[in-house]
Amino acid sequence: MTLETPIEFVKGIGSDRAKLIKNVLGISIVEDFLNFYPIRYLDKSKIFTVSTLQESTIEVQLKGKITSVQEIQTGKTKRLSAKFNDHTGTMDLVWFQYSKWLKEQIPINREVYIFGKINVFNNQFSMPHPEIEAEENKETETRLKPIYPSSEKLSKRGLNQKFFQNILRNICKEIPNLIQENLPEYMIRHYQFLSRQHTFLNIHFPKDQQHFEKADNRLRFEESFFFQLGYALKKLHHKTQSIGNPFPIVGDYFTGFYENHLPFELTNAQKRVLKEIRIDMKKPIQMNRLLQGDVGSGKTMVALLTMLIALDNGFQSCLMAPTEILAQQHYNGIKDLLKDTEVKVSLLTGSVKASARKILHEELENGELSILVGTHAVLEDKVKFKNLGLAIIDEQHRFGVAQRAKLWAKNKIPPHILVMTATPIPRTLAMSFYSDLDVSVIDELPIGRKPIITAHRREKDQAYVYHFCHEEIRKGRQIYFVYPLIEESETLDYKNLMEGLENVMDNFSNYNVTMLHGKMKPDEKDAAMNYFASGKSQIMVATTVIEVGVNVPNASVMVIESSERFGLSQLHQLRGRVGRGAEQSYCILMTSDKLSSDSRTRIKTMVETNDGFKISEVDMQLRGPGDILGTQQSGVVDFKRLDLVNDAPIIKATKKMVEKILEADPHLSRPENMIIKNYYLQNYKGKNKWSKIS
Ligand code: ADP
Ligand code: MG
Repeated sequence: MTLETPIEFVKGIGSDRAKLIKNVLGISIVEDFLNFYPIRYLDKSKIFTVSTLQESTIEVQLKGKITSVQEIQTGKTKRLSAKFNDHTGTMDLVWFQYSKWLKEQIPINREVYIFGKINVFNNQFSMPHPEIEAEENKETETRLKPIYPSSEKLSKRGLNQKFFQNILRNICKEIPNLIQENLPEYMIRHYQFLSRQHTFLNIHFPKDQQHFEKADNRLRFEESFFFQLGYALKKLHHKTQSIGNPFPIVGDYFTGFYENHLPFELTNAQKRVLKEIRIDMKKPIQMNRLLQGDVGSGKTMVALLTMLIALDNGFQSCLMAPTEILAQQHYNGIKDLLKDTEVKVSLLTGSVKASARKILHEELENGELSILVGTHAVLEDKVKFKNLGLAIIDEQHRFGVAQRAKLWAKNKIPPHILVMTATPIPRTLAMSFYSDLDVSVIDELPIGRKPIITAHRREKDQAYVYHFCHEEIRKGRQIYFVYPLIEESETLDYKNLMEGLENVMDNFSNYNVTMLHGKMKPDEKDAAMNYFASGKSQIMVATTVIEVGVNVPNASVMVIESSERFGLSQLHQLRGRVGRGAEQSYCILMTSDKLSSDSRTRIKTMVETNDGFKISEVDMQLRGPGDILGTQQSGVVDFKRLDLVNDAPIIKATKKMVEKILEADPHLSRPENMIIKNYYLQNYKGKNKWSKIS
């Protein structure tokens, strides 16, 4: 037997079963079986007693005697029932399907171990289909018994836990010395890892809990290490391969704006990030940078200044946003900031008319237009630039990777790429998922901002909340009311926007109320937005279309209705719509009385912190990493053992380790690193996992 032996040749499998296993589990050679990890283990060293069983206990082992066995007929069905007694109490053992020999085989009045799941009915415990072991036959060698992922389809054909346990026991006996090391000596010594061989032996048949943990730990480490290595190698490769346009100059456009038109002093974090970007863009290598910053941290200004540097070097830029409203708003903001300069800015969205579009296309191609702000529309093939040097993507999580790649193709030498995230991404996720991007973080809000005060209120408190809103409006502030849905859906208890609108209008009859929702036409949305932004209305009743980016500094209260229906990052985004001016702002989370435990955690987190990074960590714990990145990208975080929520220390350590190794030995050509290189080339290179990110 070798690692490559097809499983049909493994003793006890044969060609029929091999086919089945291959179909259901994707296992075709012996090595696949080694990587077929148990989902859990049964601790057979632990012995329960009948009197201390609890409803929550799932699987137990007990020691005692079977005192009687009888067949019971009810209607057409028969079952076999036995009484088990362990001196603390009695319990029924039941078989619903059994061979005719079974009744004779059950040992009566002898010390046995029974083992299995327990059922509870009328406060009586019972155990269906127990495993029974006579005391003298009890296995002593393994205490933790592996339980493999299985399916009904398999167990119906006799491929049950015993089968898998036997196959793996057999494999582990025969081939341990064929399992090759994939980490260098120095690393194993440094982390006191088990050898790779012992890792596999202890993953399948742990000697004890401690050995299991060591094996498990090493597998997590390996997974993270080779993942990081893959990205780092790609990044290195990219740095040496992917040429970019160097932007050596900081010229009049930048300096002129910075000195004469900048409406505020940049925060230190903004300055630092800008410097990081400038250093990147000076090089003749394409920049790929992720800019993380909490809501309201001032990413837009960084984007604008970066575009001015591109312009100083003779290049065009584009800024892409996920929604029309946001694109429009960026456009308005940037146009306003640049109004006293000669920089030409245009907006391109789906609703730009053909005639205007034609002019825009011409101006882009002849270079008259310096900055293009837009939605997905800028990705269309018709949109051609004279010389696109910089592409900025705002609110990254809404764009797929393929779209990013489209931007690359807009120039012969690919443009520098700056990706800005609206919702901070948990550190471990950024470290693994985005390790092909350089990361800059704005970790400071502009001075003078007061932290938003967040409160949780129940529906019955509505009158108080309205009263509070009235007072705020009287002080000159504006209010958002946000509802989860546009129309009544099948779940009738949803707060309906229209109903909400009526209710708000009734209660605030002496004020102007604007409505905004996703089904409105773009120009209607604009009109509504402008009406509110210019202060003509005091209240905006909206759905989550206002979630991203909308900026009305005078709006200081955000009331989120049925807030238990929203996800954490959405709540945080929504809250970010207030707290943009100098006034104290408030976010009021309205909920019904009954809350699920996840909802409660979300609301509590929101009330306790304004820190987007902390919120994203909690979000990941609640939803898992795949959900946070969105379905398109979740395959990337499909780790077998590594857990992005709990394995932060491992991810950090492996990232550092990889950096250190590659710094000293970028081609992994030192003898001590050959082992890593070989393993990487054999197992990872070219697998799509690494190529998903452009
Ligand atoms: P986000 O990072 O969420 O995109 P924005 O770029 O929309 O944040 O900035 C939020 C608000 O803060 C805007 O009104 C912007 O003009 C303002 N702002 C940005 N930087 C500063 C600063 N350094 N000092 C004061 N206000 C700033
Ligand atoms: Mg923004």
